[in-house]
Amino acid sequence: MSARTQDLIAAAQELLITTYAVQPIALESGKGCYVTDTDGKRYLDFAAGIAVASLGHAHEVMVKAIREQAEKLIVAPPSYTTAPKVDCARIIIENSCFDQVFFTNSGTEAIEACLKTARKWAYDNKGPACNEIIAFRKSFHGRSYGAASLTEKRHVQPYFGPYLSGIHFAEFNDIESVKKLLSANTAAIFIEPVQGEGGINPATPVFMKALRKLCDENKIMLVFDEIQTGWGRTGKLFAYQHMGVEPDISAFAKGMGSGFPIGAMAAKKPYSQVLTVGSHGSTYAGNPLATAVSAAVRGEIVKHDFIEHVQKSAAHLKEKLEEVQRKSNKISAIRGLGLLIGVDVTVDIKKLLRGLQGNGLLATQAGDATLRLTPPLIVKESEVDEAVDILERTLKELP
Ligand code: PLP
Repeated sequence: MSARTQDLIAAAQELLITTYAVQPIALESGKGCYVTDTDGKRYLDFAAGIAVASLGHAHEVMVKAIREQAEKLIVAPPSYTTAPKVDCARIIIENSCFDQVFFTNSGTEAIEACLKTARKWAYDNKGPACNEIIAFRKSFHGRSYGAASLTEKRHVQPYFGPYLSGIHFAEFNDIESVKKLLSANTAAIFIEPVQGEGGINPATPVFMKALRKLCDENKIMLVFDEIQTGWGRTGKLFAYQHMGVEPDISAFAKGMGSGFPIGAMAAKKPYSQVLTVGSHGSTYAGNPLATAVSAAVRGEIVKHDFIEHVQKSAAHLKEKLEEVQRKSNKISAIRGLGLLIGVDVTVDIKKLLRGLQGNGLLATQAGDATLRLTPPLIVKESEVDEAVDILERTLKELP
């Protein structure tokens, strides 16, 4: 490691509050599916900013949109209309089941908007006592108090309490466990169609249909957290399209900006009309720069052959991983949808991630022992082959 890199990492440890375990490398640049560290070593990036960089790094469409919009108008008060904000909303509405959009700066904030919408909708329509929410075990919805209250992991972080009251956790893919928690005061159900942080657990279409029916019968709002799954990641534009059901509202972030910070709550009418002037807002959300970049990114994703490419790459990745699984006793399961893949390993996951990094592949962890592979959606077949070769070699190196 060069002296510069050593200094950088030491400075990061000294200056930054360490809420993520600091990696032993510092990243400097990226192009396509590769990133390069400060010592010039190249890595195939199957982390993609934790399922964010859908167009990879330094994509020309993104770079052009950033440059052009930065020269024109970066910020406007949130009450003012700009063409990028309208374009950005239109791409969501024209390609989904939703009618209206509220922009945010992150996934957590999109969940916060959904939570406020759910509670206000229930207050307005079912009375002030109706404020309970059902979420799921192994869920992850973000880090603000509202989003963390919906995240089961809060139970291992009691020091932040008290969390929001009235939140109950059901078993994922188990409709009976949801029914047991239902009451006259249930306002909404929040679910990730594929649990991400919880270990890449896809919901079954049968379960999602039962959930939809339960919500319809009991006048409960159904909210999908598509922050990780939205905008092509699962091989369809939205994960709900795999499941034969539509939510009432959804949260998006990550891939919708391909690295530029932006999120959104998208809602069907009448749920989209719950938040009114003065009830919610954000200074930066929907700013011209973020929305111009996000519109450009999603303009690429909705092109007719883009999703087809994701499906082909995902099928190839799964096939290659299954080949390795047949040869190795160190992979116990492969799960996921599209290019959101979880590989359960019997080796120490931290050692595996470090070994992969040493061998030139970046990936992340989900759950307790799941390797999460989320390459850029533009990944080529040859890059998938290279990544799986590195994984196979690294697994062999580990005891
Ligand atoms: N919801 C899900 C499903 C996520 O995967 C994440 C982030 O990993 C979030 C919410 C929080 O998003 P953010 O980190 O942008 O606040």
